[in-house]
Amino acid sequence: MADYDYDLFVIGAGSGGVRAARVSAAHGAKVAIAEEHRVGGTCVIRGCVPKKLLVYGAHFAEDLHDAKQFGWDVLECAFDWPRLRDSVLAEVTRLEGIYSNTLKNHDVELIKERATVSGPNEVTLASGRKISARTILIAVGAWPAKPSCDGAEYGITSNEAFHLESMPKRVVIAGGGYIANEFAGIFHGFGAHVTIVNRGDSILRGYDEQIRDRLLQISMTKGIEFRFNAPFKSVEKQEDGSLLVHTGGDHAPLACDVLMFATGRVPKTEGLGLTDVGVELDEDGAVVVDADNRSTVPSIYAVGDVTNRVQLTPVAIREGQAFADTVFGNKPHRIDYEMIPSAVFSHPPMAGVGLTESQARSKLGDVKVYTSDFRAMKNVLAGRNERALYKMIVEGTTEKVVGLHMIGPDSPEILQAAAIAVKAGLTKQAWDDTVALHPSMAEELVLLK
Ligand code: NDP
Repeated sequence: MADYDYDLFVIGAGSGGVRAARVSAAHGAKVAIAEEHRVGGTCVIRGCVPKKLLVYGAHFAEDLHDAKQFGWDVLECAFDWPRLRDSVLAEVTRLEGIYSNTLKNHDVELIKERATVSGPNEVTLASGRKISARTILIAVGAWPAKPSCDGAEYGITSNEAFHLESMPKRVVIAGGGYIANEFAGIFHGFGAHVTIVNRGDSILRGYDEQIRDRLLQISMTKGIEFRFNAPFKSVEKQEDGSLLVHTGGDHAPLACDVLMFATGRVPKTEGLGLTDVGVELDEDGAVVVDADNRSTVPSIYAVGDVTNRVQLTPVAIREGQAFADTVFGNKPHRIDYEMIPSAVFSHPPMAGVGLTESQARSKLGDVKVYTSDFRAMKNVLAGRNERALYKMIVEGTTEKVVGLHMIGPDSPEILQAAAIAVKAGLTKQAWDDTVALHPSMAEELVLLK
C-alpha cells in the first residue's frame, strides 16, 4: 500500500472543510488543512455571521424610531459606523480563533498557505512544498462574480462591504438576490439611499411570488428604490470620486458613492489545478461530484459551495460530515437535499421551506393554499404599516403540508421550528390540532383557515 504524508488533505478551512477535517481526524485519520485567507471561510469571515450582526445593527434604526410609541424618549440618536464595523470585525476574529482551536484540539495540522492540486494524491503549497495524501478534499467555496462591463473594477462586493471606511450616502446594489436584498436593508437602516438595479423584472427568483412581492412593496415604502430590466452597461468614475452607473433600458445614469455587485457567487476553482489531474468541472467551474461527494478522480472529493449544489452553510457542514463519516468513519450516509429551509435576512426577513405555490401547482396539480395576512401586534402599536404574510401550501389529496413561506418579524426563527413539521410530512390537520400559543405571530400557523 502506498505511503502518504496524510490520510486526508483538505483545501479550504470554511464551514465544509473544517467539519470534514475535524470529524475525519476524530475517526482516526491523519489530517492537514490548507487555508490561504482566514480560518472560518465565507460564512464566518465575510458572510452569514458579520452580515447578521449588521442586520441587527440596522434594525435599531426602526426600533429606536418605534420606541416613542412604547413610552421611551430617545433623546439623541446618532449612528457610528466605524464603531459597529470594528466590533463586528472583532467578533469575527474571536470566532476565527474558536475555529482554529477546534482544528488544533482535533490534531488537524493547519497550513496557512494556498495549496493547489498537482496529482491525484498530491498537493503543492505556495511555498513549493509538495505533500502527498491518500484522499484530497476540495472545500474552497465560492467567490462573488462581477458582470464584465467597463468600470466594473470600481464596484465592491459583499467581501469589501464589511470594511468600508465610512457609511456612503448613496448606494447602488447590482442584483436582486439574497445579498442584494439583505444589504439593501442594512445600508438603508444606516441612513444611505439605496437603489437595487436588476437585469430581470423581479427580485429573489425561486422564492414564492406573493412573499417576494410583499418584500418589494415594503422595501419601496421604506424608500429603497428598484430599477428592473436594467442590465449593467458601464461604470464611470467621476472627478469627485463618486460613480456614475449606466444601465440598459430607458434609464438615466445613476450616481452613487458605492456600487456593490451582488450578482451571484462562482466556485473558486480557477488555478487550482483540478482539470490537469482529470477532475471534471461543470460550465460554471463547479467540481462535479456524485452522491458521496466524490469527483471524477476517485481520490479527490469536494463539498460545499465549490460543488454549486446548494450554496448554504448548513448544507456544506452536512456534506463535510457525510464525507468524513463515509470515507473515514465506516458510517456511510448521504445528504437529503429535500426540504432545506432558507431565509433572506431582509427588513423584514423572509423564510421558506418546500414547494412554492407555483412549484406545487405544476408538480402536484391539486393544491390548497392557506394564507394569513396580518399586522404584527408590535407594528400596530408602533403605527408601522407593515404587514406580515404567511403562506401554507397543502397537497389536495393527502392534506400534507408541502411548503411554508413567510415574511414578517422573526420569520426565520419561526420557520426553522416549523420546517421540522413540514419535513416530517405532517398533514394540515396535525397543525390545526396544535393549540395556539397566544399572543404570538407563530400562532397564525395553527389557525390558518
Ligand atoms: P443570488 O443568486 O441570490 O442572486 C444573484 C442576482 O444577480 C440575481 O438577481 C441575478 O439575476 C443577478 N445576476 C446574476 N448574474 C448577473 C449578471 N451577469 N448581470 C446582472 N445581474 C446578474 O446571488 P447572491 O450573490 O445574492 O448570493 C449568492 C448565494 O449565496 C445565494 O444564492 C445563496 O445561496 C447564498 N447566500 C445565502 C444567504 C442566506 O441564506 N441568507 C445570504 C447571502 C447569500 P437573475 O435572477 O436574472 O438570475
